[in-house]
Amino acid sequence: MTRLKDVVKADEGEIFDVELEEDVLKANRKLAQENRLLLQKHGVKAIDIMGAIGAGKTSLIEKLVERLKGHYRIAAFKGDLTTTIDAEMISRHNVEVVAINTGKECHLDANLVRKALQRLNLESIDLLFIENVGNLICPAEFPLGSEKRIVVISVTEGPFMVVKHPFIFMDTDVVVINKIDLASAMGVDAKKLEADVKRISPKAKVVAVNCRTGEGVEGVVKALGL
Ligand code: MG
Ligand code: ZN
Repeated sequence: MTRLKDVVKADEGEIFDVELEEDVLKANRKLAQENRLLLQKHGVKAIDIMGAIGAGKTSLIEKLVERLKGHYRIAAFKGDLTTTIDAEMISRHNVEVVAINTGKECHLDANLVRKALQRLNLESIDLLFIENVGNLICPAEFPLGSEKRIVVISVTEGPFMVVKHPFIFMDTDVVVINKIDLASAMGVDAKKLEADVKRISPKAKVVAVNCRTGEGVEGVVKALGL
């Protein structure tokens, strides 16, 4: 006999502010489309980096910047609530970084990215990494105008992290499984995480990496077609 009681489920229209939210999402999609056109006009390839807090988004960007800066002119946006710690970390690799502070918001939106784009000379860059706030839920619903989307997950987030957050994986081009060196210590099977991703998003490319050592980063470069 289970002691688990019936699940409380939100019905359609029952969540507070659902109509307001529809308007917000629609406005965001329009701005994202404008961002996309602006980036295309200047030949800038923008890549979203999403994932939970501590998954390794910044570390991945640092490794990608080191690997690619001889081939592309790179810039980065870094979304955080109030700090610029990650932005400073990335800028140490000698690339232009715009820190975007969202205040209380738990995700970037296309309007904030539009403002950050005004800080760059788009003619002087080829590649733009946009690191979102650490969050697996709302970034899925707020496209920013990028060409590609990466989700970084790590084995330290446990064996069920993919199945628990399906929406973030739906529109994603590349899924990076980080901290692969800790998989056996964590009792997490990276192949199972990969299979979970493929069930949600059959077209997504999945790459296992260790962002501390750089192992696997070449596979991410290839998966992005860079
Ligand atoms: Mg970070
Ligand atoms: Zn949010």
